[in-house]
Amino acid sequence: MNIITRNCIKKPVYTYEKVQCVAILFILIPGYFIFEMVIVKPTLVKMFEMAVVKHSIHVILSIFCYINVSGNMLMAIATDASSKNNVKDGIYCKFCNRNRSQRSWHCRTCNVCILGRDHHCFFFSTCIGLYNRRYYILFLFYIIISMLYSSYYNYYYVSSKLEEHGFMISVFRIINPLLRFITPEPMSVVDLYVLFFLLNILLLVWITVLFCFHMRNVTRGVTTHESKNISTKRSIGWKNNLLSVFGRRWYFAILWPFIESPLSDFIREETD
Ligand SMILES: [Zn+2]
Ligand SMILES: [Zn+2]
Repeated sequence: MNIITRNCIKKPVYTYEKVQCVAILFILIPGYFIFEMVIVKPTLVKMFEMAVVKHSIHVILSIFCYINVSGNMLMAIATDASSKNNVKDGIYCKFCNRNRSQRSWHCRTCNVCILGRDHHCFFFSTCIGLYNRRYYILFLFYIIISMLYSSYYNYYYVSSKLEEHGFMISVFRIINPLLRFITPEPMSVVDLYVLFFLLNILLLVWITVLFCFHMRNVTRGVTTHESKNISTKRSIGWKNNLLSVFGRRWYFAILWPFIESPLSDFIREETD
């Protein structure tokens, strides 16, 4: 009865998460990419008088970043991170009604035990565990690269819409709207571009902090949950810790999300 009640409470949250996840993957990320390619890029090609070669390099780099951001997110969601085995001498899970391995945890939102569970990702609407942690971390990495890359050019794009020193004046107007009475130009639609640019920078800072936190955990060989409890740390050396997340073919994995990179055998033995 307890389980049924809990699932009923979690269901609307779970449905909301799924809708949000689809919107991020199929509307927000492609929308951002299309905006950069169709609106920002042609302006900059004219502004910097880019030749065909330089222009083509930017197009290839942009597509590469887009594939890695969307691909890693898609793979993180599509990869089954659950623990299916009934582990002998494991810890009994009353929700799944079977024994789970030592480093697995039950997720009440996904309602399943997750192998090497790190955390439940609200934006991906799935748990990040041993088998999809690689995609989650590389998603964060490529989001940082993409946002740094686009912010650099977005700054020039937004500046092109404003007069000299207009960018800083616009920033002041956004920070304190009362300043519009003393600034030379009234508040306009262009301020919206500056506002989105500033939000972009804030998001970039937040994702960078998140990425550093997760990479620190990966090199120390712990999950988010284990990092709070010193007694459960069991590092196998930073190199092996990295291999246990990115797999034996890490050099391909960091470049292409759809390539297989099997995890080291000692990790399988430890968790299953
Ligand atoms: Zn369970
Ligand atoms: Zn979960």
